[in-house]
Amino acid sequence: AGTLPRPAHTRIMTVANQKGGVGKTTSAVNIAAGLALHGLRVLVVDLDPQGNASTALGIDHRSPDINSVYELLIGEVTLAETIVQSSSNENLYCVPATLDLAGAEIELVSTVARETRLRNALNDDVITELGIDYVIIDCPPSLGLLTLNAMVAAREVFIPIQCEYYALEGVSQLLNNISMVQAHLNPGLHVSTILLTMYDGRTKLADQVAEEVRNHFGDRVLTTVIPRSVKVSEAPGYGMTIIDYDPGSRGAMSYLDAARELAMRADTATEEGSGR
Ligand code: ADP
Ligand code: MG
Repeated sequence: AGTLPRPAHTRIMTVANQKGGVGKTTSAVNIAAGLALHGLRVLVVDLDPQGNASTALGIDHRSPDINSVYELLIGEVTLAETIVQSSSNENLYCVPATLDLAGAEIELVSTVARETRLRNALNDDVITELGIDYVIIDCPPSLGLLTLNAMVAAREVFIPIQCEYYALEGVSQLLNNISMVQAHLNPGLHVSTILLTMYDGRTKLADQVAEEVRNHFGDRVLTTVIPRSVKVSEAPGYGMTIIDYDPGSRGAMSYLDAARELAMRADTATEEGSGR
């Protein structure tokens, strides 16, 4: 793998779509692994109580010894105390999630600065010390307080869209939320990247959805499309990304391509400012 340009500033992206099962976690960990394979340093923040991103990165998030994003959000530990280095790639780090994060959404409601907890936690020297180029936040399938924290902490929103019926259902609600966060909490937030996932070339529907999404979002849609592939869905069961599980597979190649495209677009994404 060749190297990719390092962004001038750490790019913080939140992977969001309140629909479940559209490929948020799969895209978060595989884009991260793809960037890391190209020599960039990436931190994945697992913000879903299910902890699927942590699992896919080979982290035993049920172990009592780890500090999780939950302790980080409630201010019990620092970012440095929660970061775990991936065993598969030294450029890849994770802040894991544990099940107690499920309660955080309710607990945080009554706390001070409840929307800015993640942003404050990420504003830490350890990001510079580790030379982190990308922070990728994996969101739960809802638009609650955890996703709000992610949108306040990030500058870019990355939306995976599944090439299926009702693909765009809910996306307008997501865009409304992004506008609201933009207006009140984080003026720099913008949708920088759309990735079409679970594309099945044998169906007409997949092409129709892809065309509709491209008409709507223009060049923010990555040219690379992620094919539907059983291997992609098998990898997390082994605590692996598809890039480690089967590097030569179409799934791995397409995530590597998507990661490369994303990194090459660094400048347009950061200069775009606001706007949907
Ligand atoms: P989300 O995080 O949005 O809920 P996931 O990334 O967990 O979605 O994906 C949902 C399910 O689909 C998982 O079982 C995952 O392994 C599977 N999956 C994701 N991407 C693909 C793909 N390209 N081909 C086949 N299965 C996939
Ligand atoms: Mg998920």
